[in-house]
Amino acid sequence: MTKEEANENTLQAREELAGHYKSIINLLGEDADREGLLKTPERVAKAMQFLTKGYNEDPAAVLRGAMFKEEDYKQMVIVKDIDFFSLCEHHMLPFFGKAHVAYIPKKYITGLSKIPRVVDIFARRLQIQERLTMQIKDCIQQTLDPLGVMVVIEAQHMCMQMRGVEKQNSLTTTSDFTGFFQQAKTREEFMNLIKHNL
Ligand SMILES: [Zn+2]
Repeated sequence: MTKEEANENTLQAREELAGHYKSIINLLGEDADREGLLKTPERVAKAMQFLTKGYNEDPAAVLRGAMFKEEDYKQMVIVKDIDFFSLCEHHMLPFFGKAHVAYIPKKYITGLSKIPRVVDIFARRLQIQERLTMQIKDCIQQTLDPLGVMVVIEAQHMCMQMRGVEKQNSLTTTSDFTGFFQQAKTREEFMNLIKHNL
């Protein structure tokens, strides 16, 4: 698909989405034709396309785009406090927070700015926090083939907080790891370095 064709598809989908959102607004008991709401269906459609744009991006390609051979460095590489925003796949309401990623290189390292991009690409899809954690871990493991990778995510879920299912501001923490991080000592080292958050 050329870039023009992709843009054309996006615009066509946006128009269709806007039509659906207009129905939704009316079904919710509002009047989609009142002045304040006239442009809302199109705005919502555009916002939702932005919030799910991760489907059109390839996180492994992002990592490979800045992959360098580095055979001597075997220490932990840590990128912490990565802000992310995602949508839960059960309610399509936001969940957001911080991701912390560590890996121990074997042969390859990647540009530090690429790790937040990978987080972003997986977050801009309909997600559950556990799968988001796992997909980031798998992508780094499969692409960089490090000695180990660990991902910790802390998030607030609007589908719980706004509906009063959970106490306000409560955080859900998930983690996943491979290789050297199977050793408790290695996990501890990473957890200590990010612990002011947890
Ligand atoms: Zn939910």
